[in-house]
Amino acid sequence: MRRWKRPFPGKLSTSTANHFIMTQANTNQPPMPQPIDYSQPLNRTVLQAMPKIDLHRHLEGSLRLESLLAIAREFNLDLPMDGLEALRPLVQVTDDPPDHEVFLSKFQVLRQFYRNPELVKRLTYEVIADAAADNVHYLELRFSPQALTRVNEYTLHDAVHWVREAAQHASRDFAIEVGLIITLVRHDPLEQAEMVVDAAERHVGRGIAGIDLAGDEVAFPPGPFTPIFKRAHEAGLGITIHAGEWASADGVKQAIEDLYADRIGHGVRLVENSRIARMVRERGVALEVCLTSNVQTGVIHDIRHHPLADLLNFGLQVTINTDDPTVSNITLTDEYEIATTLLNQSYTDLRQMILNAAEAAFLPEESRKRLVTYFEDQLPRL
Ligand SMILES: [Zn+2]
Repeated sequence: MRRWKRPFPGKLSTSTANHFIMTQANTNQPPMPQPIDYSQPLNRTVLQAMPKIDLHRHLEGSLRLESLLAIAREFNLDLPMDGLEALRPLVQVTDDPPDHEVFLSKFQVLRQFYRNPELVKRLTYEVIADAAADNVHYLELRFSPQALTRVNEYTLHDAVHWVREAAQHASRDFAIEVGLIITLVRHDPLEQAEMVVDAAERHVGRGIAGIDLAGDEVAFPPGPFTPIFKRAHEAGLGITIHAGEWASADGVKQAIEDLYADRIGHGVRLVENSRIARMVRERGVALEVCLTSNVQTGVIHDIRHHPLADLLNFGLQVTINTDDPTVSNITLTDEYEIATTLLNQSYTDLRQMILNAAEAAFLPEESRKRLVTYFEDQLPRL
């Protein structure tokens, strides 16, 4: 068992799914990558080439800027259209202050682009293509169907269907395995959350791997969602909850005990409470850590003080993810580079976190074992 190496540096400011079916066609297995020598320094080329897993990536936060500009022009949206640089600050953190409300405000703009089913499919397809180009081998992409249907008259069920279809095509075309997670938003009405879970349940076993709770953790505690997540858990959906990010570690305990969380989105504030951290470790609940996002939302003051290493050394099932590549202007390779250059993580640490992610994937037992074996083969122990 790993032990704490030292007290946490710095201060913070403030049952898996068993019905998921891979969207990847069995007849189109990814090509075996060329062997990489991981004993060499972990420069950007090596990190980019390394096969990776992203368990925490929001569709809405991953859209290509170029596509957004083209859509804004085509539909004459009330947005700056002079070029990418005019649009960028509305959908991406640029010189904004580190603050979660500012971060969330980007999504108000990002939700204007889903004008019709074809666009939802195209944007989904592009997001998965971009992940594959970054050598993400296994992606769990989350989206909120209610956001996709906000500017048109389609149903939540329709939106789930479009994303599934696009994910299936992209998975096949780019040789990337994709699972989908449906996100409930804390500040949306509960009746809507019920309808979203209805839509999710209709697709259990057909590409929908799990369900997520996102949004403002401080202003909207998750208590009212308890019956909804009980129902989702009983329906066989994997459950991941954003917690221990903007609110305290108590939110992580609540997510696990009351909302049946199999995984926690972020969870970095566990460093403030070793009792709850031990509970999370004992239960084997994985943490979906997103480094740059934590800085941009003001959870961590300085990336050099990010507790990634301490969480890992405590024996928690830590994984590294992107959260929102477009909003944060990052790739998963960028996040690995931060981990190795600024947080002193070694190849062995990265390997451990990737294997943690494989073991925490919302997949049926057999598929999950296959994923773990794939990464053990691709990432040799040094
Ligand atoms: Zn997130």
